[in-house]
Amino acid sequence: MDTTAPPNRAPLAQLDRAPDYGSGGYRFESCGVYQFKEAHVFSAPALSASAHLAFLGAPESARPALWHLFGVTLTEPQNSSTSASTKDDDERFMRLALEQARLASDVSDEVPIGAVVVLDGEVLASAHNETRMRKDPTAHAELLAISMAARSTQSMRLVGATVYTTVEPCFMCAGALSHARVARVVWGVRDPKFGGCVSLGDVLSQPGLNHHVEFSEGVCADEARDLLQSFFRSKRAAKAAESRD
Ligand SMILES: [Zn+2]
Repeated sequence: MDTTAPPNRAPLAQLDRAPDYGSGGYRFESCGVYQFKEAHVFSAPALSASAHLAFLGAPESARPALWHLFGVTLTEPQNSSTSASTKDDDERFMRLALEQARLASDVSDEVPIGAVVVLDGEVLASAHNETRMRKDPTAHAELLAISMAARSTQSMRLVGATVYTTVEPCFMCAGALSHARVARVVWGVRDPKFGGCVSLGDVLSQPGLNHHVEFSEGVCADEARDLLQSFFRSKRAAKAAESRD
């Protein structure tokens, strides 16, 4: 471990080692479905918490028997469940989140992740990562945008709101989405190192939660990935140049 590196380099290193920001092209809703590593979707609206745990704990070979036992229907991921107008809106608002991500890296030298909160077609708040600038590990784009939106509406709940973020929310931000009673979250690329929605966990789909946030992914994924990759490429180049001097 390089103990000479300044502490604010840590988040860069963590994300930089992520092998892939790809979404696999999947785009699906979380409400009433369960998503597993196989990238299939189980329609199981009445699945109990114990049944859910049984699925998660079972070896793959035993799952077909469990599917049958619990009456679960296995289907391929659905990309067409989002209407054309919703897809247009998703792209439009994701481009605003991408603008925030660009600001993060170009102006603030932050990891390029941006988020916007939208309610009834109106942007309530937009933000980008500020962890390095604020020296605050919680200053993620989603959290900042949610806080700003809540202040703007003078309400601790963002009922009916959609959050657009360029990268899959982490566990912390996924928890905040649920606390805020956000209706839906849309992201560009998965985060294999910190993603708490599908990559490393499924916070949004936990059956014990009293509020479930729907989600879609893969919107403007190429742009979101390109921003991250070019940011880290430039950081690596700068570090290499530094070590040569
Ligand atoms: Zn986060």
